[in-house]
Amino acid sequence: MANSHTPHPQNRRLYFEQRLRQRQQELEQALASTVAQALAANPDDTRDVADQAVAGYQKELLFSQGAVRNAQLRLVRQALDRLAEGTFGECVRCDQSIGAKRIEALPWTPYCIHCQEQIENGDVEPSASVA
Ligand SMILES: [Zn+2]
Repeated sequence: MANSHTPHPQNRRLYFEQRLRQRQQELEQALASTVAQALAANPDDTRDVADQAVAGYQKELLFSQGAVRNAQLRLVRQALDRLAEGTFGECVRCDQSIGAKRIEALPWTPYCIHCQEQIENGDVEPSASVA
C-alpha cells in the first residue's frame, strides 16, 4: 500500500463512498461467481461416490464463502447508509469516533476498536442494528 494520501476533509465523504462502492462491486462479483461455481458443483452430476463427496464438500465450501461475502456486503451497504446519514466514522455501539487508521483500513467497520475487541472476546453482544 504505497498510497498514504490523506483526503481533504471535504473530500472525505466522496473518498470513502468511492472505496465502499468499489468494495461493494468486488463483493457482488465475487458472490455471483461463487454462486455460479456452487451451482456448477452439483453432486448429482457425478456417479462416483468419491466424486460426489468432493463435489459436496466443494459446494459446502462455496456456500460458506458465499455467506461470508454476503455478510461483508451487508456491512459495506450499512456503511454507505451511514455515509448518507452523516454518521459514518462513528461506532454504532458507543457513538465514539472510529480511529482514522481503522476507518482507513476498514471503511465498512461498524465498530470502534474497543467495541470490536469486546465483541470478539464475547463480552458483549453485537449491536442489533448491524446483526
Ligand atoms: Zn465503540
